[in-house]
Amino acid sequence: AAGAAGLTESDALGTLRRVFGYEAFRGEQDAIIDHVVAGGDAVVLMPTGGGKSLCYQIPALVRPGTGVVVSPLIALMQDQVDALRALGVRAGFMNSTQDFDERRMVEAEFLAGELDLLYLAPERLRLDATLELLSRAKISVFAIDEAHCVAQWGHDFRPDYLALSVLGERWPDVPRIALTATATRATHQEITQRLDMRNARHFEASFDRPNIQYRIVSKDDPKRQLLAFLREEHAGDAGIVYCLSRNSVEKTTEFLCRNGIEAVPYHAGLDAGTRAAHQSRFLREEGLVVVATIAFGMGIDKPDVRFVAHLDLPKSVEGYYQETGRAGRDGLPSTAWMAYGLQDVVQQRKLIQSGEGDESFRRRAASHLDAMLALCETAGCRRGRLLTYFGQEPGAPACGNCDTCITPPETWDGTIPAQKVLSAVVRLQRERGQKFGTGQIVDILLGRRTAKVIQFDHDQLSVFGIGQELSEAEWRGVVRQLLAQGLLAVEGEYGTLVLTDTSGTVLRREREVPLRKEPKKPAASRSGVSA
Ligand code: ADP
Ligand code: ZN
Repeated sequence: AAGAAGLTESDALGTLRRVFGYEAFRGEQDAIIDHVVAGGDAVVLMPTGGGKSLCYQIPALVRPGTGVVVSPLIALMQDQVDALRALGVRAGFMNSTQDFDERRMVEAEFLAGELDLLYLAPERLRLDATLELLSRAKISVFAIDEAHCVAQWGHDFRPDYLALSVLGERWPDVPRIALTATATRATHQEITQRLDMRNARHFEASFDRPNIQYRIVSKDDPKRQLLAFLREEHAGDAGIVYCLSRNSVEKTTEFLCRNGIEAVPYHAGLDAGTRAAHQSRFLREEGLVVVATIAFGMGIDKPDVRFVAHLDLPKSVEGYYQETGRAGRDGLPSTAWMAYGLQDVVQQRKLIQSGEGDESFRRRAASHLDAMLALCETAGCRRGRLLTYFGQEPGAPACGNCDTCITPPETWDGTIPAQKVLSAVVRLQRERGQKFGTGQIVDILLGRRTAKVIQFDHDQLSVFGIGQELSEAEWRGVVRQLLAQGLLAVEGEYGTLVLTDTSGTVLRREREVPLRKEPKKPAASRSGVSA
């Protein structure tokens, strides 16, 4: 960087125009770049697509020495470096995908002062050999990308990031810039603390994506609901459909293709060649739908993604925000659509309980899920919820561009139905020492003499048939919302229902239970759908 032969403009704006071909900075880019060029540390929060890369690339070019970029996205380094080289920027990377000779070459370039930017994986940076190497040439700036990976309470923790605090100790005169697209206030503080960046200036861009319309519908027949959504609102548009499992990715892709929608699958079970081919079709073609597990989309920069659909519940609000954020980077109207139902809650709670990790990991996962459920069940503005979650704009007026703003959900006093569900669970447990899943509880409340009800003599329970006032779908909605509110829990392999510490407050009538009204099921139109 800097002083490279023949530069006439060495300032930031000149570099933006000359090297990157852009006319002007966006948002806070120029304030951030000025600060770092002048040698200051910065913590930058900017949503995906906001333009974080230039915030370190330009200081690296303007200041003397090599800019060192720490990034966990090893798979993207080659692309990033190729793209920079195509612009005439002298960039290189070091990670585990290289052989010895390739690495040697990059080291030599670095030592000769011939690199503007050097990308490193965090596991490489913590090696003494790497630190030694770095201390043998001039560094212009350290950029720590995806900085939320340092936060142990976050959803993406990488232990190698903890070692990055050494940078400030060893290179006190080199400015550091930490960047992330996902940070709650707590994560933000943890970044500052763990990277030892107490003197850093904080830059926080708004997380609002006004052109994205947020919608969460009650899951009923998800594939058909998705098809209707695509046909009615996004025919011929490019978009991403997220599913939790490889199996449902495959099935959904087939279903869409059979119904005339061009879709390709993307998940970790496909070989690298197929994945790369599908990704590049998505980037190149106009109206392709990619059905994917969350493995898809990181670092993908396609401006005209018109919709992101979730057929399964994301594990956290951070994940939801990041995934939906891949829609509408060009600023044009786009939709974030999700189908969510009782089974999602049961499944995710089960995954957390049976998953690996210690107690504190489980508790953390549960609190991430709770926040996600609260977003699903809210009767208020979804955008407002999202922004408040990220510590922004509390008390902002309703947005007018989410489902709850457009059609405010009705709420009703669900205290009595909640008591009925909880009493059924209590009766089974106390009187019979039994635990059952949602299906059996609902059958008991509705007074249905199914084979399983007869088999267990459940028609003899005092709660049998006390819930005729609601339909089966409505009861499932009550159970789902009780689970979401933590007034009920699921347990074990079969997802049986059990009480929580707070269930008693409802049973003792110490509190009310407001619930969202379940939408009336529209008369199913099956025309033109091939299962
Ligand atoms: P992030 O890392 O925050 O997700 P990127 O740095 O990848 O975002 O930038 C997103 C897109 O915006 C890229 O295509 C980038 O080239 C473009 N971009 C960034 N800054 C500007 C700017 N000042 N003017 C025009 N385009 C920009
Ligand atoms: Zn709203």
